[in-house]
Amino acid sequence: MKNFRGQCHCGAIAFDYSTALPPGDWPIRACQCAFCRAHDALSTSDTAGTLIFTATVPDYLQRYRFAMKTADFLLCRNCGVYIGAVIDTANGCFGIINTHALETTPVDIAAVAAMNYDQEDKSGRVSRREDRWTPVQQSPDKD
Ligand SMILES: [Zn+2]
Repeated sequence: MKNFRGQCHCGAIAFDYSTALPPGDWPIRACQCAFCRAHDALSTSDTAGTLIFTATVPDYLQRYRFAMKTADFLLCRNCGVYIGAVIDTANGCFGIINTHALETTPVDIAAVAAMNYDQEDKSGRVSRREDRWTPVQQSPDKD
């Protein structure tokens, strides 16, 4: 497994994403929802990887929920950067990273695939995230 670190612009919130997948094999998903388009967010995850979110300045961590409100989208209140999202389910905690928040974008990172999840119902959305997102080992306490 190789670790990839990312953080918001001011460094208040960060992630460590560990995966054995070479960047050329990463799924890179451009969700077409209004939030992800506004942030130009590109998501990736690995069901066999691990993900840790940290907040060196906890007061700057903003958890944002919208639409079906099943996941927390993690933003920095200070610099505005969106770094990733987490969902807590009966089966655990799972997350994605925004690859645009990586400290260094791998030169051989895979091509982007546009995704549209508009047809999902709530249980389908949760199940898809459980099946596809990265197990989260640690994330900052909720307010
Ligand atoms: Zn910040």
